Amino acid sequence: MKTPANPSVTNASVGTGNRVDDMEPPDGDARFLPLTGKNFRFRCHRDIACFNRCCAALRLILTPYDILRLKRRLSLPSYRFLDRYTTTVTDLDNRFPRVRLRMDDNAGKTCPFVTPGGCAVYEDRPGACRIYPLGRASASSPGREDANEKFFVVKESHCMGFQEDREWTLKEWLEHEGAAEYNAMNDRWLNIITSSKRLGEGDLIRKHQMFFMASYNLDRFRAFLFGSRFFDRFDVTPERKKQLQDDDVELMKFAIEWLQFSLFGEKTMELIG
Ligand code: SF4
Ligand code: SF4
Repeated sequence: MKTPANPSVTNASVGTGNRVDDMEPPDGDARFLPLTGKNFRFRCHRDIACFNRCCAALRLILTPYDILRLKRRLSLPSYRFLDRYTTTVTDLDNRFPRVRLRMDDNAGKTCPFVTPGGCAVYEDRPGACRIYPLGRASASSPGREDANEKFFVVKESHCMGFQEDREWTLKEWLEHEGAAEYNAMNDRWLNIITSSKRLGEGDLIRKHQMFFMASYNLDRFRAFLFGSRFFDRFDVTPERKKQLQDDDVELMKFAIEWLQFSLFGEKTMELIG
């Protein structure tokens, strides 16, 4: 099935079409229908009249795992991917900087990855693109490792997939779209950005920079680890160091532990001595 590309609901945040990027679906927005224990009808395919219409004018927030998959797909270091394809959103209300996929500067504001044949990065498309036309809102709660999740249907007027005859349960849809891996990786990070903990006092600019690098700019984070005295201060086994050198997914998990330690003082890392 074609990727619905129009997700505006990332696993991390909601935002569809001209959407919002909040952690919850907006109350009262008629496009967002609750999905509780119900099937939904949907089919997206190349011959449908609205094909590709959803891959434009998005405010699509990318998670660290989205970026990891895309930069790997495009064989780009993370900083090049960020420069070329994203915009950073920082504002006083958002405690943490967010990264949006930058739409092309053309009349239709199309996604940089959309082609006449569909999504050029289909196997590595962002989590929100996978689960569209569903949206997932997810947030941590104190004392729980796993995230609370809530699904809803994003019913946008241009999408004709709802008129097709294929029915899905939520489970079937998530399996079909390969969402589990994305959700698992995204939830680790969502636990940070939906945390009720504040950044506190101190050097907020430095904290924001650290958050940005560890979340989005993994190659630079690796250079920071291996180019500084980090491993003189923290107890990291040689095997783990090798993983951090070679494996982006392990590096991303480590980066999240580092953020928990450095931003919130959680005991996720061991100091030497
Ligand atoms: S990444 Fe792919 S599926 Fe997502 S908006 Fe772009 S073209 Fe569409
Ligand atoms: S059916 Fe919906 S998701 Fe599929 S191409 Fe059309 S607008 Fe996009």
